[in-house]
Amino acid sequence: MVEDRSTSLIEINCPLCGSSEKNPVLQTREGHFLSQCTQCEFQFYSPRPVSAKIEAYYHEEEFYEKVNITAVEIVMDILAHHQLRSGKLLDVGCGVGTLVAVARKKGWDAVGMDPSEKAKELARKVLDVEIINSYLEDFCFEPESFDVVVLLAVLEHAFDPLSIMYQVGKILKPGGQVIFSTPNLNNLPYQLMQNKAEYSWFVKEHINHFTIKTHRSLLEKAGFQNPEFHMSGHFAIEDSDQGRMLLPGQAFVRSARNLLASSLEPSAQKMFGKPSSGLTDQEVLEIIGQQAASWDLQPGEYTLSHAVYTSVRKKWGVDPRQIIIPQCTPEPPDRP
Ligand SMILES: [Zn+2]
Repeated sequence: MVEDRSTSLIEINCPLCGSSEKNPVLQTREGHFLSQCTQCEFQFYSPRPVSAKIEAYYHEEEFYEKVNITAVEIVMDILAHHQLRSGKLLDVGCGVGTLVAVARKKGWDAVGMDPSEKAKELARKVLDVEIINSYLEDFCFEPESFDVVVLLAVLEHAFDPLSIMYQVGKILKPGGQVIFSTPNLNNLPYQLMQNKAEYSWFVKEHINHFTIKTHRSLLEKAGFQNPEFHMSGHFAIEDSDQGRMLLPGQAFVRSARNLLASSLEPSAQKMFGKPSSGLTDQEVLEIIGQQAASWDLQPGEYTLSHAVYTSVRKKWGVDPRQIIIPQCTPEPPDRP
């Protein structure tokens, strides 16, 4: 009998470290099995659908209706924050090319890449932008040819995120910047949820689920030396001599105002005797700090929004040819 690959599920080893040791975490409401690697703590679907089943989804028009304008603004904010004003920029998984179009207007030599023919067609029709129709791993760019590489909402979909980040490292110039976003399992709404299986970002196409810790191990395994993180819409809680400290990331106050509007209002009146619209950024941070303490959040990395945006400058300390990428080898499915 011929196997129907469009509906098959396969058990996989950890896509980050290659370990076959994993523990089940939960079964999502759509029926996917979330596992956690016992070696590196990475969480991923296993068994997961074979590639053909998921890839088909990216060719549906519906997928491109989800383009997130806020994400484009955040990338432009991060570039401005690092005084990066021009140069060569690659947007991997660019969808219909919105970021490419915006970056070009701001003076960047921007290139977009997306494997979907539907995306290419829409980019040409809607934005008059030509994009490259390919996966990053299948396309040969000159080494060290980009100042900035962007991957928005790519790595959670990727069958081999380590290979992708390795390619990114190869094509970035020394000191170049990689900006990427993924959902973050350490987001507050998820941490506070009673029934985590109901989490709305456990969808079929999100086969990898990152935290800042696993972002870091992904980058280190791909050859980035001592990656420095710059967060957006994100905060870290650290213990210090003075007690618990809240370290806000870029754009944090803005997202806090939006996402915590309902709890900011009573706290603003109680703590500062004014409406939340009149709060200074520092006052917003004080309120969030108090709430974080009352929720008993432990030191670590959290986001208010479901996604985390991270930028990392390239320091590539080793000969990339020496990096061994553990292949994400499927385990044979259990047969009765
Ligand atoms: Zn692992």
